[in-house]
Amino acid sequence: MATYEYLCSRCGPFDVKLAIGTAPTSHGCPVCTGTARRVYSSPGLALTSHTVAALHERDERSREAPAVVSEVPPGRSVPRRPHPALSRLPRP
Ligand SMILES: [Zn+2]
Repeated sequence: MATYEYLCSRCGPFDVKLAIGTAPTSHGCPVCTGTARRVYSSPGLALTSHTVAALHERDERSREAPAVVSEVPPGRSVPRRPHPALSRLPRP
C-alpha cells in the first residue's frame, strides 16, 4: 500500500491509500464526491545526521530483532548512599 495525495478544487488536499502503481489520475473526493486530481509532492524524507540516522535504524531494528544479552551490561557503578532516614536513628 502507498499513500497518494489528491487535491479537490473545493475541499483541498486529501490522502488515499492504494496498492502501489494503481493510483488513478483522478479520484472521488471523500467530502463533496467531486473529482479530485492527483498531485505529486516530495516524499517524507528528511536529511538527518549520521548519528540520528544510526539511532533511528537501531530503534527500527530493535522492533524486529531486539538484542538479547545474557548478563547486565557493564556500566558506571552508582555509589550507594544510605537512606537519609537512617542517619536520624540512634547510634550504638
Ligand atoms: Zn471535495
